[in-house]
Amino acid sequence: MHILLAPLAAAALSALPVAAQDRGPDAPPINDRGAYLPSSVPTSDDVLRILVPADYNVPKGSFVLVGGRLFDGTGTAARPATIVVQGKRITAILKPGEQAWPADAVVYDVTGKTVMPGLIDLHTHLTYVDRFDAGYGEAVASGADSALRGIRRMGIFLQSGVTSVRDVASHGDTPFVLKRWQADGRIVGPRVFAAGQLITATGGHGAALNKTAPSPMDAVREASGPDGWREAVRIQFKQGADLIKLASEYSQAEIDAAVDEAHSLGLPVTVDSETRYIDMAVKAGVDSIEHPLPRSDAAIALMAKRGIASVPTLIPYRIIQRSSGGYFGSTSRRFELNETTILEMLRKMRKAGIKLGVGTDLITNWIDYMPNAYIEELKGFVKVGYSNSEALVAATKTNAEILRMADRLGTIEPGKLADIIVIDGNPDQDLDALARVTTAFVNGRLMLRDGRLFMAQHMPVPLPQPAR
Ligand SMILES: [Zn+2]
Repeated sequence: MHILLAPLAAAALSALPVAAQDRGPDAPPINDRGAYLPSSVPTSDDVLRILVPADYNVPKGSFVLVGGRLFDGTGTAARPATIVVQGKRITAILKPGEQAWPADAVVYDVTGKTVMPGLIDLHTHLTYVDRFDAGYGEAVASGADSALRGIRRMGIFLQSGVTSVRDVASHGDTPFVLKRWQADGRIVGPRVFAAGQLITATGGHGAALNKTAPSPMDAVREASGPDGWREAVRIQFKQGADLIKLASEYSQAEIDAAVDEAHSLGLPVTVDSETRYIDMAVKAGVDSIEHPLPRSDAAIALMAKRGIASVPTLIPYRIIQRSSGGYFGSTSRRFELNETTILEMLRKMRKAGIKLGVGTDLITNWIDYMPNAYIEELKGFVKVGYSNSEALVAATKTNAEILRMADRLGTIEPGKLADIIVIDGNPDQDLDALARVTTAFVNGRLMLRDGRLFMAQHMPVPLPQPAR
């Protein structure tokens, strides 16, 4: 079960100082999971943590953001501040007027703008098809089509201020490829934390998308029996999954097996389910539950007690309600679901003290609703009692906690990775200002400039010279 190379020791991996996990551009290859642990660092068998890919193409140089107001994501009020970034890390937050940064730093004047942590979207499907109708010329099972759909969506997310996505089902190995290319700076977009394929029972939720014969390029993997579910988890792990995504329907034995297997591999589990399937998921010990689907008050209380987070994804259900006047159920999903009932579910979960994250679940061509879909999701939180600032903290700090990346992402503080957005306006006062993201850095790398995707200029390498 152990994925770490170094011998076991007492200190928890999550307690490592951030700097201990830096690696230079010339660092040797490490293990298959892309985790970097120098041999001098104590490790533990607490593997319940998402490991980040080895971002060997680390940005060089420094930059500062001067003149703006900083909403740092910690919950404190916005204040005037200067942010200093060196390489991929935020190294200092200075008071206005202080000038303690490297002489060669690039200075960005962000006067009148708000600087905040990049938004995180905990529920994406980067490779899902835009349209299901025939003749659109797009092949579901094509890795090339999947990758191009993913790149396009990543661009739209970044233009909307999203600097990390948790992708909870995509086609085949495509999300893992997108993840590596983004980490290396070869494509622009948010960081990708990928589940790989959605795992469901044969004929379960989402399986209608599959043909009879399974393909490795499916986005949904059907499995039967506890051993089948364990194997399905293993296959995602082998490809590089950061988490495991399950969906109803399943038996108690199946979800118990899948959660046990995932946890023994160090992977958190999230589940798309409803009613009695949520009872089973809670009993199995999942880490989070997607969507605002019906569940009992007892299940809500148990979620709170056991620290199971919720990613309510209100917006897809609101879109369905508005465009079709109802909710399309499935074999296990026959219930009333509308804007009132989903908000009521959110309200109940908030009251119970459940940790609530932000995700949009924009399938088909709904990506075109960004950034408004994300803004409306946050306004749903405000409807049940969040302030604008609290909604933004959910979108950044709380989402990073659910990702298990809170020691590196989600706030703007010294030591954190430089995932930063600049907004023309005050989103903590007016959420609609989130529609005006002008600049975004991911891992210290400029990827959005003046609202447009930005790829650094190619630096030519001299041709080899003839031997003398
Ligand atoms: Zn989904």
